[in-house]
Amino acid sequence: MSIAINGDESALLARLTLDQKVRLLTGADSWHMHGEATVGLRPIVMSDGPAGVRGTRFDSRNPSSSLPCPVALGATWDEHLVHDLAFALGQETRARGIDVLLAPTINIVRTPLSGRGFECFSEDSLLTTRMAVAYVRGVQEAGVGATVKHYVANDSETERRTYDARISETVLRELYLPPFEACVVEAGVALVMAAYNSVNGAAMTANATLLRDLLKSEWAFPGVVVSDWSATKTTVPSATGGLDLVMPGPHGPWGDHLVAAVRGGRVPEADIDDKVARLLHLARRVGALNGAVDGGMAHHAVSASRALVDPALLREATARSFVLLSNPRGLLPLQSGSVSRLALIGPNAIDPQTQGGGSVRVLPVVRAGLADALGEAMDAVVTMSQGCVTNAMTAAPNDGSLRDPLSGQVGVRLEVRVAGGELVHDAPFPTTTVTWWDGLPEAVHHPGSEVVMRARYRAGVGGPHVLGAAGVGVLRVFVDGALLGEATTLTPRDAVEALSRPPEVRLPVQLQAGQEIEIRVEHRPNARGNQAGFASMRLGITPRLDDEALLAQAVLAAVEADVAVVVVGSADGAESEGYDRDTMMLSGRQDELVRRVAAANPNTVVVVNSGMPVLMPWAADVAAVLHVWFPGQAFGEALADVLTGADEPGGRLPVSVPRAEADSPVLSAYPEAGELSYSEGLLVGYRGYDRTGSEPHFPFGYGRGYTDWSYESCAPGVESIVAGQDLPLTVTVRNAGERAGGEVVQVYLETPSDDPKRPLRVLAAFATVRAGPGEQVEVRMTVPARSFARFDEASRDWAWEPGTYVLHVGRSSRDLRLSGEVVLR
Ligand code: BGC
Repeated sequence: MSIAINGDESALLARLTLDQKVRLLTGADSWHMHGEATVGLRPIVMSDGPAGVRGTRFDSRNPSSSLPCPVALGATWDEHLVHDLAFALGQETRARGIDVLLAPTINIVRTPLSGRGFECFSEDSLLTTRMAVAYVRGVQEAGVGATVKHYVANDSETERRTYDARISETVLRELYLPPFEACVVEAGVALVMAAYNSVNGAAMTANATLLRDLLKSEWAFPGVVVSDWSATKTTVPSATGGLDLVMPGPHGPWGDHLVAAVRGGRVPEADIDDKVARLLHLARRVGALNGAVDGGMAHHAVSASRALVDPALLREATARSFVLLSNPRGLLPLQSGSVSRLALIGPNAIDPQTQGGGSVRVLPVVRAGLADALGEAMDAVVTMSQGCVTNAMTAAPNDGSLRDPLSGQVGVRLEVRVAGGELVHDAPFPTTTVTWWDGLPEAVHHPGSEVVMRARYRAGVGGPHVLGAAGVGVLRVFVDGALLGEATTLTPRDAVEALSRPPEVRLPVQLQAGQEIEIRVEHRPNARGNQAGFASMRLGITPRLDDEALLAQAVLAAVEADVAVVVVGSADGAESEGYDRDTMMLSGRQDELVRRVAAANPNTVVVVNSGMPVLMPWAADVAAVLHVWFPGQAFGEALADVLTGADEPGGRLPVSVPRAEADSPVLSAYPEAGELSYSEGLLVGYRGYDRTGSEPHFPFGYGRGYTDWSYESCAPGVESIVAGQDLPLTVTVRNAGERAGGEVVQVYLETPSDDPKRPLRVLAAFATVRAGPGEQVEVRMTVPARSFARFDEASRDWAWEPGTYVLHVGRSSRDLRLSGEVVLR
């Protein structure tokens, strides 16, 4: 399991005492590692991804590019595009002074209810693998270390910190491990993050079988295994099991305990040397060792002026990720000049969700909102109607009606007082949500500290309003100096939940139009153990909205418009790290909204803005359905491009969409007595639908563009192969439509096995192609040898079963147009 320590590193190691070495193996704080002057090591800096790079704090003067979420990148099926985007993200990361990006997330979408499904690439192992390798290469070519996470089986959020995933070795090897294996073996990923959960009885931070024997020995991983944040609970089992770095620091189960374990002979010092050598190797790769570089990464460091991802690239990638699910009358793309009045409707039209929740979040560069982008692209009058209420928390006004009472700036005033009352922070803050990432003074986490949010609010309309204050701990709300309400909220089960949907206290207030009030919320966070006390705090205020009136107004707007674009989906906080969804149904009265608008205007386009699929019982009754995921900052521009036909919606589903929740091969991921059984085995996603014969509403791989494709021929390059051999394959397709466009050619392999526990077919190769009208394209593809293998538990090795294998080529997992055969001898 040890890496070969080269001369340079062994000379450096020899200069360090045991205490100095062990100190390097736990972080210095949340995002920095320790430096060590003795060996010329500066602290390595880490930051979260994968849909952008946050930086070590939110800073409104230094916003980040917000990329389409990973499942949207999976929907592009385009390795080159993902590589280019990841390279640009790597450059932005480097320019922010960050060495290690905690991305990509390469777990599998096992259930559509997964709160963090949006942060994974797909439900398929090969698609995830290809996207992951492209992403890691892109990031690392920019001189940044990528971190594949979360190793392994962190495929749902419920009890994620403690569950024990029970999975057979075959299923691990064939479905959940291949993306990690390829990132290590093919892409040379710098770090692997050990997940919170256990697998088959051993915590992933101390899982010797999967860390030491598989990752480090069999795959010969030379990089660093970092724990997920606060995941390490043991000293000796984690240190000997293969973990290299405990994050965050400076406290944790290693430090002095680990020094004592080495001195007591319970952990060999050679293990410590191996860990430190890996860190020094990483430091060399990212240029943290005396500014030195080693063949790879730090060469490409760029200046801050080139920092942000090119908005044109983001816009293109975003349009390429949108999946057109239906367009029966060909309403899209909208004929130029045909729309003079467009009704933009829906809760997500008012409050578009560009990102999912949790550590993935960045403070994005602000771009045009949907109405402005559509109005400008179409030269049309755009009306806006909310349609219904879906937010779980009281809406926060973004119209400038909340201001810092002292400076008058848009936003609020934030004060931090420590126990005893001393004011340690007093400044305006631009938004109404503040989190621990926002760079408040460290004292905010001390017991007895208090955060105070103050704002002047000017009511635009008269009538009953709702005031919401959220945070974990004590909340006291004052209006014009008088106490309006006080409550103590409970600590959510997962710390990240306190960020994504902190518990809220709601209070009624009666206001007149134009009336100004001063709001003051005092928040004393709950301090829990060694966890940071302050997580987040939020203020919302809105006129009390009535769904009936909102629905009626939306229908009226639709009647008066040429086209209605209804943007529905997940509300803020609905999909996040830290918890799973309860249902795939759209929340609130969104289904009714779509139905009523579609009845009022036949030209109704529904835009679904959610990370994971939703049920769409109205899909056959509307003119078009477009799934746009969490699209990042280019949402408006990309939507305008796709609606007008300036670009084609290029996406294909990376996850299956069921008609009813119960059709999903895996739905609930609730552990029982701490155990999460992966009893469906390999039959996840389309593999499950194919076996049960149940018809998905929209199958894996499906998506329409603006042109048609004919599939002309499929020719395997050879008639037979032997075990371990790749198969070359040529497929000829033609753009049979009248517009230039793109296609994702998909190859599914059917094996000779009739074992009902094994999938009927699996995705074995794919390629994205582009062609002009009438143009024919010859696509050369390779089916990797591993697609023909299965993992044999008895011999604990890959086995190639001789026989005839059928290659099915088509437009989706359920639209297979051509086939070919190859014999495995
Ligand atoms: C998440 C990781 C993330 C880390 C640091 C954890 O809760 O699971 O994906 O990188 O926090 O923010």
